[in-house]
Amino acid sequence: MRAAAMPATHDSVWKGTLMHPEYIEAMEGVSGLAGSPWLTSESTVLPTLDGAHEADVVIVGGGITGALVARRLSARGRHVVVLERRRMASGTTGHSTAKVTALHGTAWRGLLGAHPRDKMHAWALANLAAVDELSNTARVTGTTCGLRTLPAYLVAGDATSAQNFGEHIAALVSVGIPVSAVDSPDPFSNPAAELPRQVMIDPAAFVAGVLSSLGPIADLYEDTAVRSLEHTDDGWLAHCDGGSVRAPIAVMADHSPMHDTGGFFGRLFPYTHYVLEIAPRTALPDGMWLQVGGENLTLRPTSGQGGTWIASGQRVRVGSVDDEREIYTQLEESVTRMLGKVEVVRHWSTHDHETSDGLPFIGEAPLGRNLFLATGYAGWGMTKSVVAASIIADAVEGRSNAIAEIVSPSRLPGLNSLVPLAGENATVGREFITGHLTSTSKLAHSDSVAGQACTHLGCETKWNTAEGTVDCPCHGSRFGRDGSVIYGPASNDIEADA
Ligand SMILES: Cc1cc2nc3c(=O)[nH]c(=O)nc-3n(C[C@H](O)[C@H](O)[C@H](O)COP(=O)(O)OP(=O)(O)OC[C@H]3O[C@@H](n4cnc5c(N)ncnc54)[C@H](O)[C@@H]3O)c2cc1C
Repeated sequence: MRAAAMPATHDSVWKGTLMHPEYIEAMEGVSGLAGSPWLTSESTVLPTLDGAHEADVVIVGGGITGALVARRLSARGRHVVVLERRRMASGTTGHSTAKVTALHGTAWRGLLGAHPRDKMHAWALANLAAVDELSNTARVTGTTCGLRTLPAYLVAGDATSAQNFGEHIAALVSVGIPVSAVDSPDPFSNPAAELPRQVMIDPAAFVAGVLSSLGPIADLYEDTAVRSLEHTDDGWLAHCDGGSVRAPIAVMADHSPMHDTGGFFGRLFPYTHYVLEIAPRTALPDGMWLQVGGENLTLRPTSGQGGTWIASGQRVRVGSVDDEREIYTQLEESVTRMLGKVEVVRHWSTHDHETSDGLPFIGEAPLGRNLFLATGYAGWGMTKSVVAASIIADAVEGRSNAIAEIVSPSRLPGLNSLVPLAGENATVGREFITGHLTSTSKLAHSDSVAGQACTHLGCETKWNTAEGTVDCPCHGSRFGRDGSVIYGPASNDIEADA
């Protein structure tokens, strides 16, 4: 069955009908409407997989990674099938603040401390090029995704961070990111580094536009959870509730690799980022602002000038706090200290995975066999997904790619990354033990499956007080209150205790 075309009709206006509602719920004690502005529009519902199918490539996941991989491979004549558990772009991509920039906050300084400069130079150039490539993709596909070109700024958040701000500029220049030092206007008023010609988008509309441009060489399915990926004599068999897809090549664009041949569940650390859409009382200077120190806020306009803004800053490990509503309160307080009283229009959060050496895992999975993956973007997946699509498409075609080795999923952890790796996994071990020792009453919620075991590795799940979800503190799986999987690595739903 061919997929219906998806109109790129997303915008930030509530249209009243949601074919597939946001997973987060409005909870008392959190300001504003619940949910991402990018997911409020109607869009055509794609079919659910039914029966046995064949393809050249099966792609698990319809976020920005899945969409861009599908575009690259279908352009090279491969028949691709994209299988999405919920709606296209409804995962991390649809909750992104979608600043498409190679600036990546303070990451470059850390990367230079852990990796050779020539490799980080190559990685930086790939991310710079990705900004232009994403913009071109939006234009070529005619995608109406609110794309705006504007500068990105890294700015010192207070006097203390202003003192050693030069080190961040030096790191950026050293890896080849062409920033220039500028004085920032109010309300930032501290030294800043400006990177011109970066981009912001509505990420859900971007994905919808890319997918709708693929034509008949791609089959797209929604509400189609892949329950397992089985290796067979002739490739990969994706098992779904209503059918299956057989293909010689499989790509896990599923955020948490479901067929884990590399122990990735212990090498990916899920951190939730909290976001507010705000209406400031005074105009803010146009641009995408990333503070270092101080309130540590990032700010971008939602769309044009004079409208609302999107603010984020707080980040915590999934399931690591008793009351997630406090994180929103802290974020609102930070915004108020910085900008004065604001109206909070919306709030939302979700997680992205971090890695111990600061680089993503992109390429063929350990053990090979034409199984590919891309994850571990650490909050900067808008450019990394573009690079990932190019690496994976080249690998599928047997072409060399200069960046592939730097982010290979088979790379060994360097000495510098052993300490963070051990620390994150000690957290998991503690969660596993204490979760099983504590009474479930602290974790549970009477009207949900919270407190029951995660279907991934059996850790005790926790009620998320701000989103109304059931979260696993060990590896970041998240479920609806009824136990249905929202985010992996879990593939199966939690059955409610009788
Ligand atoms: C709050 C927040 C703000 C961010 N802001 C920025 C930013 O400003 N700039 C930037 O560059 N990056 C940002 N990021 C990071 C960026 O959004 C992510 O790195 C990126 O969207 C990840 O895309 P993805 O396609 O890999 O994953 P996802 O978008 O999560 O896509 C994976 C898809 O796979 C589906 N799936 C999973 N398992 C299965 C299965 N078994 N069967 C079928 N489907 C499955 C999921 O439903 C999901 O739709 C932000 C992240 C967060 C959390």
